[in-house]
Amino acid sequence: MTTKEYTDAELKKLKDAYKAQRCGCKRRKDRQGTQIEMRMTFDQWLAVWEESGKLHLRGAGKGRYCMSRLDDLGHYEEGNIAIILTTENCRQGHLGRPSKIKGRPSPRKGMPLADEHRAHVVESLKRHQLTTVVCPHCGRTGQLLVMHRHHFDHCPTVRLKALS
Ligand SMILES: [Zn+2]
Repeated sequence: MTTKEYTDAELKKLKDAYKAQRCGCKRRKDRQGTQIEMRMTFDQWLAVWEESGKLHLRGAGKGRYCMSRLDDLGHYEEGNIAIILTTENCRQGHLGRPSKIKGRPSPRKGMPLADEHRAHVVESLKRHQLTTVVCPHCGRTGQLLVMHRHHFDHCPTVRLKALS
């Protein structure tokens, strides 16, 4: 399966890396709660790395490469993996997961909208920005989206009337 010759030390290091990944994923679940499994043999694993040409850059940190599961879902198995930059893998891993800071973000946080969806949002925003409305209480005009903050039910003249 393998194409290159390795020294015993190199081979041991690679085998250890494979084992560490296989054991490590026993403790991990993907964002759908599925237990992640290593479904490749060492030879298959090594072949993927050799094919990528990034084996010498395998490791942690900036500019290094790692084995990633497509869309960060499913198992480590043929057809579901890619060798990508660790920084890119980290970014993908955070998509749709809650941030550690606070609150509960959208489950689609950071994921791009479909083209059709994006066009719809842009068009809707444009329409609202172009629409001007008049406050019935004070007669001021302004953009539809912002006028409701300080006019209509929140118009200062309404509050003044309520006070007097
Ligand atoms: Zn007003």
